[in-house]
Amino acid sequence: MIDVIGELKQLLSFPKEIAIISHRNPDGDAIGSSMGLAAYLQKLHHSVKVIFPSEYPTSFNFIFGVQRSIIYDLNQNAAKQALEKADIIFCLDFNGLDRVDKLGETIQFSKAKKVLVDHHLDPEPFSDFEFSDTGASSTCELVFKLIDDLGDRAKVDPIMGECLFTGLITDTGSFRYGTRPYTYEVAAALKVAGVDDYQLSDKIFNSQKAKHLKLLGHCLANRMEIIEDHGLGIMWLTKKDYEDFDIQRGDTEGIVNYMLMIENVKMAILVLEQPSIIKISFRSKGDISVQEMAHKYFNGGGHKNASGGSAYANLHDVIKRIKKVAPEFIK
Ligand code: 5GP
Ligand code: MN
Repeated sequence: MIDVIGELKQLLSFPKEIAIISHRNPDGDAIGSSMGLAAYLQKLHHSVKVIFPSEYPTSFNFIFGVQRSIIYDLNQNAAKQALEKADIIFCLDFNGLDRVDKLGETIQFSKAKKVLVDHHLDPEPFSDFEFSDTGASSTCELVFKLIDDLGDRAKVDPIMGECLFTGLITDTGSFRYGTRPYTYEVAAALKVAGVDDYQLSDKIFNSQKAKHLKLLGHCLANRMEIIEDHGLGIMWLTKKDYEDFDIQRGDTEGIVNYMLMIENVKMAILVLEQPSIIKISFRSKGDISVQEMAHKYFNGGGHKNASGGSAYANLHDVIKRIKKVAPEFIK
């Protein structure tokens, strides 16, 4: 059997130029895993650049180092250069090159060694080292495992730990879903490493602006339809809502989950009318696979119980289509 960890350890045994990239609209797991891995690699004396295709929610500004990351949408040249210069490119928390937009091509044609660390279903075979585990709660869990397998658990400090704990919290909804026994082992190890998880939760969840709660109120009061017969909840936001509520990237994060709090709702879908595209967030409970639905009908994917997709059509047609196809997946 090939010793993948040994090979990677060998590759990392001399200082390298390293680029870390995660997916568009980075969430807590994308940001936490990227910045946690960056802090670790910097400790090993590598030169590390972190790239995100688009901006991250400002609520994650507290994550160590994130404010020095390169945002492709804001600085295309710097992002491309960082990738072109890299000896190693770490691809975190995404399974296909279409998740990083135009940078996908730069990565595809780069001569750098590519390392994929991810927990999404169906990873594309573009990497040289693949650490894909769809049973993992989060990419942060897998980054911790990688560091541990490389023999460096002791190098995990409170700052790195806080980055990695962030993905555990955000991708599991505070340990309410997506966990396995190992998830808690990682949480324990990070706490042992000095993470203050209570303070971290406070930073993650209690940093909302009043406008976020007003937007949530609007969604729940005026933009929600529950189709009792199918256990389906649909919510939508129009272009005008985007203007009226000054909705910025990341502001709609988490809203879709509220519908799952309703008795008998088994699938929840949020449809966002963005300037040139309709973005859709899918969530489900138990055995219902929104991944299959997102993949089959909405050009997307993700996880069984949490997926995303998109459509180029008008809002009402997309909602109509959702209502038509959803029953196929709700058992
Ligand atoms: P969200 O609804 O929070 O945007 O995304 C939920 C999950 O689906 C995340 O794990 C995300 O990576 C994945 N996802 C979101 N949008 C897309 C998409 O357009 N394509 C694919 N393949 N996955 C997506
Ligand atoms: Mn993730």
